[in-house]
Amino acid sequence: MYFTYEQPRFDVKDENEIRRVIKEAYENGCEAAKQGKVANYIPELAKANPNDFGLCVRSMDGKELSFGQVDKRFSVQSISKVVNLAAALKFLGFRETFSHVQLEPSGDAFNSILKLDTVSDLPFNPMINAGAIQVMGLLTNVMDFEDLLDFARKFMMDDDIVLNESVYRSERDTGDRNRAIVYLLKSKGVLSGDPDKTLDTYFKMCSLNVNAKSLANLGLVLANKGQNPFTGKHLIHPGYVCTIKSLMFTCGLYDESGEYGVLVGIPSKSGVGGGIVASVSERWGIGTYGPALNKKGNSVGGIAALEHMSHLLRLNVFA
Ligand code: GLU
Repeated sequence: MYFTYEQPRFDVKDENEIRRVIKEAYENGCEAAKQGKVANYIPELAKANPNDFGLCVRSMDGKELSFGQVDKRFSVQSISKVVNLAAALKFLGFRETFSHVQLEPSGDAFNSILKLDTVSDLPFNPMINAGAIQVMGLLTNVMDFEDLLDFARKFMMDDDIVLNESVYRSERDTGDRNRAIVYLLKSKGVLSGDPDKTLDTYFKMCSLNVNAKSLANLGLVLANKGQNPFTGKHLIHPGYVCTIKSLMFTCGLYDESGEYGVLVGIPSKSGVGGGIVASVSERWGIGTYGPALNKKGNSVGGIAALEHMSHLLRLNVFA
């Protein structure tokens, strides 16, 4: 925890001051990264450099402020859950999507199987593995991986996103918990797609190579109610964006979403590859990359940087 409740919240408006605060946030992120550890349960992720850190902020008028490792590619991991949910809402609609997955924070780790077996047949939300795999089951009936990749590229305004083959193979070869989840869903009769195709497409979407800039773009499209601010193209209905951002706020940082919601208070989604996307409505998209994670699987550098920015620039949605 970086700031406390009692400290006053600032609201810096001057452009140079904003730049200074964002640079400070980057420096705090670099410092904080020293406290974390890279993920190693997917062997390929263990190769990341824990000292890497990058912060990119993009605004509606095309201005960009970038510090550190913003061009370095890394696997998007759970941030793909935002793209998958967006695709499900766009192509299947709200009713169909949420008759297969709930809208509740789980309070459990991202890869937990516990409540799926003991409490509820339907996964708690689309931001945890069980929920995202369930959503993927729905999607595989109407889209292929190539269609989803194309959708991801548009959403992140980044045509250079490709599949990271070695991360994909590493996930596929070691993803036994996810295999357990998909077969548990099948055994309960709630999975819509073929389990192997569902899981394979889920792994591929987790293995897309993005950078902090593509994440900032994703945040920006969400901040602009689903419209690409530069081309004017509408990618998804504003009502769906509202749903997605609400779920990012309540469930986007696994079982740290509550604390993050209080301390940062910006709809965000993290991934164990080290990325965080944050969306400041009608203003900014923010992408961070810092593969050193805390015990909950969230980027320590990313959280420190976002907390600093949120506090000094009054970005908390309730501030
Ligand atoms: N591919 C990872 C998994 O399924 C994603 C986890 C994450 O980023 O939260 O375990």
